Parts: sequence; C-alpha cells; structure tokens
Amino acid sequence: MSESLNKLVDEFSKLPGIGKKTAMRLALHFVKSDKGAAVSLAKALTDLGEKSRPCGICNNIADGELCPICASPKRDSHKLMVVEEISDLMAVEAAGAYKGRYFVLMGALSPLDGIGPEDTKVGSLVELVGKGGVDEVIIATNPNLKGEATALYVAKKLKPFGVKLTRIAYGVPVGGILEYSDAGTLTKALEGRTVVE
Ligand SMILES: [Zn+2]
Repeated sequence: MSESLNKLVDEFSKLPGIGKKTAMRLALHFVKSDKGAAVSLAKALTDLGEKSRPCGICNNIADGELCPICASPKRDSHKLMVVEEISDLMAVEAAGAYKGRYFVLMGALSPLDGIGPEDTKVGSLVELVGKGGVDEVIIATNPNLKGEATALYVAKKLKPFGVKLTRIAYGVPVGGILEYSDAGTLTKALEGRTVVE
C-alpha cells in the first residue's frame, strides 16, 4: 500500500465507528473519485478546524462569536433547553419540534467517575440564567444515572432564580439516549415535559 493511502486509511480508522475495512473503502473511494472530491473534503476539514469554535452563549459549534441558533431572532430566547452534548442538540434540532434556545453542558456529572460540576459548563449555565430573560429551563439530560444526577444538580442550582424548571418525559426505555431517539419520540418527550418540583 502506498504511503499516502496508508496515511489516509490510518486517519479514517481513528474516526468513531470506522473500522479498518470501512477506512480502506473510504480511502479507495477518494482514489477512484476525481480530484475535486478529495480537495473539497480537505477544505471542509480545514475550515472546520480553523473557523469553528464554541458559541459564546451555549457551547454549540459556531463559525463566529455566536452559533446560528443563538444568533437567530426567530428563536424564542425565553426558553432554554439544557442538553449534555452537541450531538443531543443536533438530534433535537433534527426532530424540528423545538424553537427555543439551548445550553450544552459538554458532559454530565458522574460522581462515581470523579466527574463533578466543574468538569462541565454548569457554572456558565447558572450565570446565563442569572442574567435573566429566561422563563423556562427544559432539562433534557439523558434518562440514565449520569443524566439524572446532572438534572438534579441543575435543578437545585437554578431553583433560586425562580424560573420554570421542566424535565422532558421519555418514552424511550431507561438507558435510552437522546441522540438515538427518533423525531417522533423526541417531539412527544418535549410535549410531555413535566415541572420539576
Ligand atoms: Zn449558541
């Protein structure tokens, strides 16, 4: 195998969910395709690396100071949905049933693994809600141990601000992950959200 092909296969196989076989298939695809395909993939990756950074408000991926959701005047800034990861935000966006804004925690609390609030963005969330302008915080962390621990902590920290706190209702089995829920399930979970006492 040529060194350049070897290098590309090596890079592809570092990606999540990509084994050696798939990596080889992808690499060979670029060998067979016209040069344009490889150049535009390389450009997309370079742009992502150079331009993308965390949104200054919600931690979603942004090309500038703010992500497209925080920058959009069409989104309801009174509603804030708290999710664990950017992939969860993407899943809710794909379902298309939510028109408010988000806050990405960039992780979940896991006391057993020694992951505490300071290892996530909970502090910035508290700061953001403390500034005012948010009426409802929808806690959409995953329905598993870490997600529940995180939901409890977030609710406790935000309670003093007097905002409405809700938790989305999961139709998915316990241990199901937001990211893998289909659009219909996510929409129902959002509609069936309950107030956190
Ligand atoms: Zn944002």
